[in-house]
Amino acid sequence: MDLKLIPSAEPTPGERAALDGVLGTPASSWEGGARVAGVSGNTAAGGHDARGRRHLLLPALWALQEHIGWISPGGLNELCRRLTVPPADAFGVASFYGLLALEPRPPRVVHVCEDLACRCVGSEEIIEQLERHLGPEGELTDDGQATWLRSPCLGQCDRAPAAIVTISGDEPAELVQAPVTTDELLPVIAGAPPAAEPTTLPPQAGDAELRLLRRVGRADSLVAYEAAGGYSALRRALELGPEAVVAEVKASKLVGRGGAAFPTGVKWEAVASQPETTRYLVCNADESEPGTFKDRVLLERDPFAVIEAMTIAAYATGCGHGYVYLRGEYPQAHQALGRALAEARAAGYLGADVLGAGFAFEIEVRKGAGAYICGEETAIFNSIEGQRGEPRSKPPFPVQHGLFGKPTVINNVETLVNVLDVLLGSGDDYAALGTDGSSGSKLFCLSGCIERPGVYEVVFGETLGELIARAGGVPGGRQLQTVLLGGAAGGFVGPHELDLPLTFEGARAAGATLGSGVVMVLDDTVELLPFLQRIAAFFRDESCGQCVPCRVGTVRQEESLSRLVAGNARGGVVRELELMRELGQCMRDASICGLGQTASSAIESAINRLKVFEGTR
Ligand code: SF4
Repeated sequence: MDLKLIPSAEPTPGERAALDGVLGTPASSWEGGARVAGVSGNTAAGGHDARGRRHLLLPALWALQEHIGWISPGGLNELCRRLTVPPADAFGVASFYGLLALEPRPPRVVHVCEDLACRCVGSEEIIEQLERHLGPEGELTDDGQATWLRSPCLGQCDRAPAAIVTISGDEPAELVQAPVTTDELLPVIAGAPPAAEPTTLPPQAGDAELRLLRRVGRADSLVAYEAAGGYSALRRALELGPEAVVAEVKASKLVGRGGAAFPTGVKWEAVASQPETTRYLVCNADESEPGTFKDRVLLERDPFAVIEAMTIAAYATGCGHGYVYLRGEYPQAHQALGRALAEARAAGYLGADVLGAGFAFEIEVRKGAGAYICGEETAIFNSIEGQRGEPRSKPPFPVQHGLFGKPTVINNVETLVNVLDVLLGSGDDYAALGTDGSSGSKLFCLSGCIERPGVYEVVFGETLGELIARAGGVPGGRQLQTVLLGGAAGGFVGPHELDLPLTFEGARAAGATLGSGVVMVLDDTVELLPFLQRIAAFFRDESCGQCVPCRVGTVRQEESLSRLVAGNARGGVVRELELMRELGQCMRDASICGLGQTASSAIESAINRLKVFEGTR
């Protein structure tokens, strides 16, 4: 196979070593690529073995990026040679992800969040000041060793405004800086050591009455986790047997917490009943919805709970291998999870014979690379398989044809952690908590103009107003302007709607959505129109471009909104608003995945509920 390698582009010894770290040392002088006659070990046919490792493409791209700060033609060539992937194909994958660079980048990059929650607390001022001191984003510092870039939401909304420093080299590092000021960022860009990473805990962390947050901050080691009751749920699952575990989860009426609210037990049963016995489990830890950070808190501060819950899910559904698909912007979660996996493995909670029960299960972490769409379940499969992270058309559904074409259970982090509580009691007990349509408790992410931002756990049924009051309300005596509920893919609710019950059915009845649990509070000082423009720009930027309604619709939506904001409505405000509604309808009806289907939701809700353009001409 002629891979059409890039002419005259050779890797440096460091790039070769970085690739060896992921792919291993080549077993022979030939591994994919052009065959060299007369060299021993050249007996593999057509590079099939190498192509079977295509799933290592993204980790290998990360290794190159972390080594020199970007993916050079020589590094890409070598990777393609090793995996028998044409550079044109690998380039298509690398260029899909915001955190990977195919043009030279300096070793030190500061990514400054410009998204919704950070805007509420001054990120635009930080960005203006950086532009004044250093020039536009991407401009190199005088020594050529650093630059700064705007970034979409970094998932640090409880400690906004936020930035992440990435440092490439022999000891690559990624450090969250939050909350951060311009005065703190400027020396870091100039080469000073970044500040220690934040260690904030959710306001309710460790409350023994809670179900999801009670161990947070108290179970950072396996010993501490076991002392807090950890692994009792797995032991109970092994006593019950797989079918009874699925029955308990079905009885609990637990539904997915990532936004789609699909019944978890039904999904597990569908996978467990597949005739194909090679099955996969994927934990979706790619929460990228602006304003969402609840899974990050669980991963950072209660990682064993995620691992235990994944092990139970795998046992119940017959999966032998699991992946955690983790946001690339979560370095602390990556470290915590890595440490916890090593401890769990060493203690026999993972491996060829979990707790001597004759059940084999292993977990790998796959690091995303900055693509909102990779929170969509089938986009995750493509990303893990080493393809562009584009969603697949459904059907076939993941329970039949998921990762590597095999039956796959995919659950979000919060959904999985709920399973522990189901098994520690019973499915019926769990179902009795909350309401008929929304059982159990839910994590909400409070951010923006709120006194005590953070993750809050509430039993379904509390009202939006009660939750905001629980977090201290709007600070400084200012007035509540609106609440963005459910994230950028959710919608706005007005200050007169605070009696909205926080349940799936309550939100639906009010024409809203809980989405992934975002509650972003905007006071009367936040300018709403630039906020809406940021939402439109976000979707335009994050559309994977695969289907026309979304690829074109998100661009047209942004243009239309900009005309309205600028007072240049085409054919008048009424006609422009009609056009926006038509665009929204088209995206809802004809887009392949949830991104396009919800890209207009928040903007339409601002128009319809908050009447943002009423009175304009
Ligand atoms: Fe891609 Fe948007 Fe289509 Fe989803 S709806 S597949 S994000 S273009």
